Amino acid sequence: MEIQDNGAGITPVRIGLKSRFRFKCHKGVSCFTRCCRGITITLTPYDIILLKKRLGLSSDAFLALYTQAQLLEKTDLPVVTLKALEDDEKSCPFVRENGCLVYQDRPTTCRYYPLGVASLVHREGADDEGFFFFVHEPHCRGFEEDQGWTVEAWRRDQGVDVHDAINAEWTDLVVRKRSFPPNIRLTEKAKALFFMASYNMDAFRRFVFESSFLKRYSPAPETVEEIRGDDVALLRFGMRWLKGVLFRGASEEEPDAAPS
Ligand code: SF4
Ligand code: SF4
Repeated sequence: MEIQDNGAGITPVRIGLKSRFRFKCHKGVSCFTRCCRGITITLTPYDIILLKKRLGLSSDAFLALYTQAQLLEKTDLPVVTLKALEDDEKSCPFVRENGCLVYQDRPTTCRYYPLGVASLVHREGADDEGFFFFVHEPHCRGFEEDQGWTVEAWRRDQGVDVHDAINAEWTDLVVRKRSFPPNIRLTEKAKALFFMASYNMDAFRRFVFESSFLKRYSPAPETVEEIRGDDVALLRFGMRWLKGVLFRGASEEEPDAAPS
């Protein structure tokens, strides 16, 4: 998960789980919802699972209506970002005057704000606790409020520890790919499989249950039942499978399962 520089000048000064800060965001601040405009929100797999369910959409429809895909420069892997509205402020599609339309299911990036997570961006120097920084946008008045936090308490309060735990295997896969020498590239087919197993649970479920996948990989019967109707279980299963097919030997090797 990352917050990308929106031109406001983000300074990635390393802070840890025990670091302290003062912050409060509420409807009374003069900047209310300013941070929901003009920012690029990268979506994690669990963000997409929550949002498509919230909106009553298939993952195909959610991806088509609300997102755009791009290649993460340092990993050569596809990432998905929220498609901003075409208004003057490039607003998030879910922002309204009285706040976030999908607040209970808001993305990981929004939960972390005003913190960013650098573990994907600055892997060197990251430790087991991860590596956080303040997104210090000048318009954000939340730092003037009188409520104290540690990073750890903020993560818990915002429910982002749950998001991180569910996304952990995906994050690990992205970080591992990032450690590849730059001349080692994944094939287009491998990238398409990564995209499907990461972001499009409905398509991945069709791939698993309607192709030769189950015959080829013979997962345990209880796993098959679990992933049949549970998107989080399917995501975790998909990440374990992807690690096997993408990182087995040379990454140039074609995965031996493909949508039929
Ligand atoms: S800019 Fe800061 S204080 Fe203002 S709404 Fe966003 S997070 Fe809250
Ligand atoms: S999803 Fe909600 S919190 Fe996140 S940028 Fe959009 S409106 Fe703001």
